[in-house]
Amino acid sequence: MTQLTSSWNKRAKLFFQTLSDLAFPPVCVACQKPDFLICKNCYKDILWLQESFCPYCFQESSNSSCCDGSLMGMFTAVAYVGPIPKAIHHLKYEGHFAVAKPLAEIMVEGWQPSWPEPDSIIPIPLHQSRQKKRSYNQSELLAKEIAEHWGREILLDGLFRIIETSPQVGLNANERLSNVNNAFWANEKIKNKSILLIDDVFTTGATMHAAANALMLGGAKEVYGFTLAKANLT
Ligand SMILES: [Zn+2]
Ligand SMILES: [Zn+2]
Repeated sequence: MTQLTSSWNKRAKLFFQTLSDLAFPPVCVACQKPDFLICKNCYKDILWLQESFCPYCFQESSNSSCCDGSLMGMFTAVAYVGPIPKAIHHLKYEGHFAVAKPLAEIMVEGWQPSWPEPDSIIPIPLHQSRQKKRSYNQSELLAKEIAEHWGREILLDGLFRIIETSPQVGLNANERLSNVNNAFWANEKIKNKSILLIDDVFTTGATMHAAANALMLGGAKEVYGFTLAKANLT
């Protein structure tokens, strides 16, 4: 299949997904019951963390990292359990981009008023070729919804993924770090800005660390990270 056909097929799939979302009541992504995309029952199974932690030693912290590193602090809304893994899978791999809205609402709900107020929001970018294949970036969809909720600036051209890395799944913490190290590059748009990086899941933090390193190298004032969920490394 040519890349063009594959990309058209993907777009067609997304188009019909949107049509069927309009024509039929949404089905819960976790239990398949017709209700909301995350039904009321599954919503009750969400394990709220609303946690501020150090992205280097993983200790709970109050708004800032206890260890030295580019990330000033790390925040997460929920644990990677209950309906969350299935919902993220739908968003990332099933072309079900409508799931971004309820997931972003969970992030907004989980955000604590005492946490910092950065100038700009930046989603963890995908490499251009992967974004073309997938036709959207799940972190960007989450970040757009959050930026809209908060009325905050979203910067989609401040940070780039310049190296196409292999997926992190199945790698240990050290392998993850060397896989994404130097994968990002930031331009001058981020200079002197306080930035909140958005991603779906925090596992070892390797991607967040590498992205934050690139932003600090590019002259950002400070960088924080915020993910929907925090997972245990398996
Ligand atoms: Zn459900
Ligand atoms: Zn620490």
